[in-house]
Amino acid sequence: MAGQKMLKFVTVGKEMPTKRDAELRSHDFDEIYRQYAVNKAAEQASRCSQCGVPYCQSHCPLHNNIPDWLRLTAEGRLEEAYELSQATNTFPEICGRICPQDRLCEGNCVIEQSGHGTVTIGAVEKYLTDKAWEMGWVKPIKARTQRPESVGIIGAGPGGLAAADVLRRAGVQVTVYDRYDRAGGLLTYGIPGFKLEKPVVMQRIEQLEIAGVTFVLNCRVGEDLSFDAIRGQHDAILIATGVYKARDIEAPGVGAKGVVRALDYLTASNRKSFGDDVPEFDSGELNADGKRVVVIGGGDTAMDCVRTAIRQGATSVKCLYRRDKANMPGSQRETQNAEEEGVDFVWLSAPKGFTGGTTVEGVMVQKMRLGSPDSSGRQTPELIEGADYIEPADLVVQALGFEPEAIQTLWGVPDLAVTRWGTIKADFRSHATSLPGVYAAGDIVRGASLVVWAIRDGRDAADSILAYLAQPASVAAE
Ligand SMILES: Cc1cc2nc3c(=O)[nH]c(=O)nc-3n(C[C@H](O)[C@H](O)[C@H](O)COP(=O)(O)OP(=O)(O)OC[C@H]3O[C@@H](n4cnc5c(N)ncnc54)[C@H](O)[C@@H]3O)c2cc1C
Ligand code: SF4
Repeated sequence: MAGQKMLKFVTVGKEMPTKRDAELRSHDFDEIYRQYAVNKAAEQASRCSQCGVPYCQSHCPLHNNIPDWLRLTAEGRLEEAYELSQATNTFPEICGRICPQDRLCEGNCVIEQSGHGTVTIGAVEKYLTDKAWEMGWVKPIKARTQRPESVGIIGAGPGGLAAADVLRRAGVQVTVYDRYDRAGGLLTYGIPGFKLEKPVVMQRIEQLEIAGVTFVLNCRVGEDLSFDAIRGQHDAILIATGVYKARDIEAPGVGAKGVVRALDYLTASNRKSFGDDVPEFDSGELNADGKRVVVIGGGDTAMDCVRTAIRQGATSVKCLYRRDKANMPGSQRETQNAEEEGVDFVWLSAPKGFTGGTTVEGVMVQKMRLGSPDSSGRQTPELIEGADYIEPADLVVQALGFEPEAIQTLWGVPDLAVTRWGTIKADFRSHATSLPGVYAAGDIVRGASLVVWAIRDGRDAADSILAYLAQPASVAAE
């Protein structure tokens, strides 16, 4: 029955023990690990200088009260530290694992800027929440009161789930629709398990289910159910459908077998980790084992693909990027991780075509140099004539980014205003769209962004929806 099911804690993401830990294994290994982790978190937390100008906090999209929960951690007051950290973040253990901290909180730590190495804020945040699950400090979501209003959320990614959490706590009836068979969006099927273990995501979804959130899965809005039908069933709607239209390479041979899209490749790998039957993986079509792999792109998705290929047992993994290392769009930390794991970066290189006929055998590589800066100040890549060569490949993964799908057309809602990039136009603060009672959050508004921003948007949109529901019906209908 809702509210009575016990939450399970899943032990995930243990760091490798040190040599000293291994020597002491004859004693209680778990106790040693626990002590090691507590000490490490406290040691890091105590490095925070409590500088009084918390740039870390202002550069965290959720404005987490980082200095205070670091201080509580350093003092060993872990439960209080956890309480404070979860007050502003719906999924702290997820952000602690996958936020690009080098661009957000940690990159703005004054200790980092004074050259002494940042306080590892993300690792402490992850530790605190994992500990909270283990100790039973993560309380079930309890509605303060039951309300009759219902909200339909389209999209079960972090934006939709964060909104569901806020709305359910307020007692609203929440139904989340998603076209996939599991909730979580890119947390479940995009981001690889070595960065974000799937039980960490699933325990949050279970928490929402226990709280009474209804999930309608395998439901593609616009095909299986119309947007108007959903809108007719609820008092307000949140659209949080993300961006999924892959940018494809336009070059001869791109349709050959063995030239695949990043998300297909990563989804197959993630599905396999759930134990699903994945024929395209088993047939080798979406599996890098024993293959020479070339990944094209320089963002975080490309880094996830190269690191997945290494783990699947590729014989070689090369990453082609048309600019140089300094101009990579992805996180420097991710690039460094990939380099350390054996990925070979081929800078200033772009695909000109693919060799091999029906099955790919190689990438025709066009060498580039950086020319003068464009209007954004970024140097434009230019072709170097006569410097082409062929890079042998059995599997080529295209990771050039994502754009929004044409929701207006696919859902038959011409009145839903979109930007010239196809993202939904929503008010910056309230997240209200051009349709009364319809809100939008996450990547479908921002374009491809970050989990932490989707959480922030989902929380803010839920607050606006609560305010909308509180209005007299005559005002809300305007
Ligand atoms: C490979 C990859 C790795 C990434 N790694 C990181 C990272 O390390 N750190 C980070 O911060 N960010 C990362 N990101 C970005 C991050 O995942 C997204 O910014 C975030 O998930 C956006 O959340 P969202 O809720 O807006 O959308 P999504 O997570 O995309 O969820 C949208 C949901 O809507 C559903 N949906 C879409 N259309 C329909 C429809 N018509 N009917 C029903 N359901 C529909 C989808 O099935 C999906 O479940 C990564 C992205 C990718 C692609
Ligand atoms: S949510 Fe992300 S940016 Fe904010 S403190 Fe946590 S890891 Fe840093």
